[in-house]
Amino acid sequence: IERGELILEYQPQWEMPEQRLIGVEALVRWEHPERGRINPIEFIPVAEESGLIHAIGDHVLRTACRQQVAWQAAGLQPVTIAVNISALQFRRQGFLERVSRIIDETGADPTGLDLELTESALMQPGPEIEAQLASLRGMGFGLALDDFGTGYSSLTYLKRLPVALLKIDQSFVRDVLSDPNDAAIVHTIIGLSRSLGLDVIAEGVETEEQRISLGEAGCDLYQGY
Ligand code: MN
Repeated sequence: IERGELILEYQPQWEMPEQRLIGVEALVRWEHPERGRINPIEFIPVAEESGLIHAIGDHVLRTACRQQVAWQAAGLQPVTIAVNISALQFRRQGFLERVSRIIDETGADPTGLDLELTESALMQPGPEIEAQLASLRGMGFGLALDDFGTGYSSLTYLKRLPVALLKIDQSFVRDVLSDPNDAAIVHTIIGLSRSLGLDVIAEGVETEEQRISLGEAGCDLYQGY
C-alpha cells in the first residue's frame, strides 16, 4: 500500500439489449516489482489471514472514491462503482465509521457506490448486521450480494436485508450453454430475483452466445470475467 503497488482496474457492467454502460466493478491487483501482476485470488486470502485485509479494504474503497470524484471532475457520465467488501471487514467493529471517514475525506457520493458483500458476510444475520446494512443504505450506498449461489444462499437474507442486486457467480455462467444444471441454476436465480423485485447481474459473461442466452432468460445486466 505504501509503495503504491496495489492498483484498481475497473471492469464495465452493461445493460442489455442496448449494451449501455451502467457501472464498473473496482478490482484490485498487486503490481509486484519482481513478480509482476498478482491476482487478488492469490493475495486476498493471505491478507484475510494476516489481518491486512482491513488496510487493503480501506485503500481500495478510498481509491474507488477518489476515482469517482476524478471522473466526475472530468465531466464523464456518472456510473456506479462497485467495491468488494470482505466478510472480515464488514463484520469488524467500527466498519461503518471507517466507511464514513473515507466518504468524508474523499467527498465521494455514496449513491454512486455499490458495496458487494458475500453471503459469508451476512451469515447468521443478527440485529447488528441488519442495523449496519440499514445504516449503509441510509448513507446512500447500494448493496449487492456477490457470488450468489456459491455459499449458503439463504433466502432469509433476500427477504429481510436491504440488498438490491444479486450477482450470479461466474461458475454458473461459464457453462450455461452446455450444462443443463448450470442453466437451471441461472434461470432459477433470475426468476427468484425477479419475483423478489431485485436486480440481477451475471458475472463472467465472455461470449455473445452467453449474453443472448442470459438476455432471453431475463437477465439484463452482465459483466465479463
Ligand atoms: Mn465482486
